[in-house]
Amino acid sequence: MIKPLQIVSQLDTISFIESESRTLEYEVGTIVSADGKIVKQYVGSGSLVRTPMRDLALFVGNVFTHNHPSGRGFTVSDVQSFALSGASEMRASLPDGTVFVLRRRASDVAESLGNILQNEVPEARYPGAAYALQEEISADGHDLSEEKRDSRIFDIMAESVHTWLVDNAEEFGYTYSKEE
Ligand SMILES: [Zn+2]
Repeated sequence: MIKPLQIVSQLDTISFIESESRTLEYEVGTIVSADGKIVKQYVGSGSLVRTPMRDLALFVGNVFTHNHPSGRGFTVSDVQSFALSGASEMRASLPDGTVFVLRRRASDVAESLGNILQNEVPEARYPGAAYALQEEISADGHDLSEEKRDSRIFDIMAESVHTWLVDNAEEFGYTYSKEE
């Protein structure tokens, strides 16, 4: 477990975990309580960390931070899980030091945030993003290798989630920011 020797505050614990995990090649997700304690830590694979449903109660009112080795922002699944979890804040830290933060601003938040995002933004999911890329490619005539194509599809997914959150998070009771 990645864990500081002495816990000072919630922010200290979060900063420590994020600085220790942001360059890992696999995801690590950590629930941090208001008094800076590590409630639970999950070690995932390359681009996925699973948090079992039976642990849902552990998230309530706490901060969930995880690293994104991909260097991209939140996925639709991140937003869906967070909105349902009752956590006060979700963070994704990137290898370059960027941190994306989604926070509950009010008590009357829309827990369907992630589902609304998914319904409104087809490009936030792989098939929709693949279609958008296809349109892009036929417009400019460039062809891409399969690897580059996939990477570009994931870029489109992350960019569309980011843009939607910038425009809509407030309306649903959340604040969204990108810290650099
Ligand atoms: Zn994530």
